[in-house]
Amino acid sequence: MLNIHFLGTATSSGMPVIGCRCPRCASTDPRNQRYRASLLMKWNGANVIIDTGPEFRLQVIRAGIDRLDAVLYTHEHADHIYGLDDVRMFPDHSAPLPVFCFPRTADAIERVFPYVFGRATVAATSRPSISLNRIDGAFDIGGETVTPVPVWHGPTAILGYRVRDFAYITDCSEIPPKSMELLSGLGTLVLGALRHEPHPTHYTVAQALEVITQIRPRRAFLTHIGHDLDHEETSASLPPGVEMAYDALEFEVE
Ligand SMILES: [Zn+2]
Ligand SMILES: [Zn+2]
Ligand SMILES: [Zn+2]
Repeated sequence: MLNIHFLGTATSSGMPVIGCRCPRCASTDPRNQRYRASLLMKWNGANVIIDTGPEFRLQVIRAGIDRLDAVLYTHEHADHIYGLDDVRMFPDHSAPLPVFCFPRTADAIERVFPYVFGRATVAATSRPSISLNRIDGAFDIGGETVTPVPVWHGPTAILGYRVRDFAYITDCSEIPPKSMELLSGLGTLVLGALRHEPHPTHYTVAQALEVITQIRPRRAFLTHIGHDLDHEETSASLPPGVEMAYDALEFEVE
């Protein structure tokens, strides 16, 4: 049994967008108020988080998470890594927190957070203790196999992740054939869908629906959502089995 919890479901701007007066950003529907995209997965007593964006601390407090066993990164854009410092606040870490990502993403994390790796430019008294794992294939956490699923984010390869028959793919504009194979037989798919207007590095809603039709999961959720999309209006337009994700939405999969 996997427990899935959406910690955040917004694109890089978050929602509401600073200074925006559009009806979605002004909406009082809590499902139109989104932190940057992040996901909590729980299995066998382990808490595993995908991406630590700028609202990481707020997300962890909102979800009541008091322990963290691993972090998986999709890629090094600011909306996915800038909350990393706050992993130091989790109590009871006798060993460094395992972090998994592409080698390129690991290099970027070392550049963005030099003090974490003992190369402080200003003296620091407190820093996260992490072990950075540069992955190039499946790995194990808490007795489950985690399979990285490479996808295109515009011209850049980033990672989605599959555990059992659940997969999470955020910022994506194309899934190569080899990765489509890794996504066969899925029960639940989470897929990024930014807006209706085409975008060079993200699927539109229509493109995401097309991919979902090809992969044929039993259930799909759209995430990494921009402020062009109203939750209720977009939800009503989706085919059966596809739902708009929203912050704090939680469900279980086998
Ligand atoms: Zn993003
Ligand atoms: Zn807006
Ligand atoms: Zn991105």
